[in-house]
Amino acid sequence: MSDSLRVNKVDHIGIAVRSIQEALAFWDRGLGLAPGHMEEVPAQKVRVAFLQVGESHLELLEPTSQDSPVGKFLANHGEGMHHICLEVPDVQAALRHLGSLGLQLIDPMPRPGSGGSLVAFVHPKSAHGVLLELMQKPKT
Ligand code: ZN
Repeated sequence: MSDSLRVNKVDHIGIAVRSIQEALAFWDRGLGLAPGHMEEVPAQKVRVAFLQVGESHLELLEPTSQDSPVGKFLANHGEGMHHICLEVPDVQAALRHLGSLGLQLIDPMPRPGSGGSLVAFVHPKSAHGVLLELMQKPKT
């Protein structure tokens, strides 16, 4: 297998919540997972908080508008698991490979993610019901 198709690790698991503050009553007060990095992503109309768990993170996603991907997810499914993010060395190469297999991509091209990363989503129809995010770390 070529290096570009390697999957390094589970980077994070995305969880849709109505309120990050309310969710932290469980994750932080209950389990001691304090929020580290927090940011608002206007393009996705979402506020995110990352909770470190060993080498991976939980990403709490709170919509800033009903009319957003996460807002619609909450309306349809309620709170809960939203996506899994795998870290890959080269997200563009991974997309090319998945596209060549005829799989359905939400993002045919990588787009900027949080903290300078590059991300792209694969449609759950092609990933057996999982909304899959592929993430490439910023070059350091
Ligand atoms: Zn994510």
